[in-house]
Amino acid sequence: MSWKRSLVKRLGARPGLPVAAAVYGLGGRFYARWLYSAQGEAEGRLAGGRLSVSFDVDYPRDALALEPLCELLGKLEITASFAVVGALVERHPDQHRLLVDAGHELLNHTQNHPDNELLCPDRKFDQLSPHEQAGEIALCTKTCREVLGVELAGFRAPHFGNVSGRDFYRLLAGQGYSFSSSVPATEAESCGLPLRTPEGVWEFPVSTCPRHPFAVLDSWHALRGPGARHRGEGRFAALCRESLALAGRHGGYLNLYLDPRDVLEYPQAAAALAELSPQRHGLPVDTYSGLLQSLLSK
Ligand SMILES: [Zn+2]
Repeated sequence: MSWKRSLVKRLGARPGLPVAAAVYGLGGRFYARWLYSAQGEAEGRLAGGRLSVSFDVDYPRDALALEPLCELLGKLEITASFAVVGALVERHPDQHRLLVDAGHELLNHTQNHPDNELLCPDRKFDQLSPHEQAGEIALCTKTCREVLGVELAGFRAPHFGNVSGRDFYRLLAGQGYSFSSSVPATEAESCGLPLRTPEGVWEFPVSTCPRHPFAVLDSWHALRGPGARHRGEGRFAALCRESLALAGRHGGYLNLYLDPRDVLEYPQAAAALAELSPQRHGLPVDTYSGLLQSLLSK
C-alpha cells in the first residue's frame, strides 16, 4: 500500500481538529487527489469511474419540490436515488409516487427521521436504542410497501457519519437490507469505493468536498448551511467538475447528494446538478442497486 493511501486511511478514520485544520489550511486539494488516487490503487476500483446522485426528502418542502425536480432529472437524463421518510410518504404520497413512476430508486430514511425538528425533534438516530432504531427502519419499510407498493433494499441513516460500529449493519442485514449509503468517503475503509461489510451489507460512501475533505459535498455544505463556503456563482458546479475528473481518472466513485428544495431555490445547486448529467461527462451514472448488481456480477 502506498504511503498516500495509508495516510488517507489513517487520517480519515478519525480526523481530529488539528488534522482537519491542517488539511483545510493547506486548501484540501492535495488530500482530495490522494483520496481518489487511493481509490485507484484499491482492488474494488471501478473501470472508468462511476457516479451516483442522491437526494434526501427530509422536509415537506423537499416533498413539494419533487415534481419539478423529476422533470429536471428527466431532461438531464439522470436516474437518482431518493432517501424517503415514511411520515412524509404518508403526507405526500402523490409526490413520492412520481419518483417511482420515473424509475428513480427509493431508500429507507427511517419513519420519522430522528432529530428532524418537525417530525422527531431532539433525538438523533444514533442515540436511539437498537430496538427503537429497528422500529424506525421497519416502519418506513412498511409505509413504502403499503403506500407506494415498493420493496426497499437500501438505507440512508439520518445525519451522515453518525453511524458507528457493526450493530448498524447487523440491524440492516436483519431487516433484509442489502446496502446503505450513510458514511462519508473519508471515513470508509475503502477510501470511498463501494465496499461489502462483514455483515454482508454493501456501503456506498458519500463523497466529500475537494476543499474540505472531511465534510460531505452536498448542497447544505456548499450553499445552505451556516458558514457555507461555496456560494459564489459556479463554485459548487466547479467542485463537482473537479470531483468528476478525479473519479474518472482513477477509476473512483463519486457519490453526490443534494437536497431537493435546494435545486429549486439555489441556481448554483441547479448548475451543479446540470454538471452531473451524462450529457456533460463520460462517467456512467448508476443508482446504488444498479451499481450493486454490476459489482455482484463481476
Ligand atoms: Zn467545501
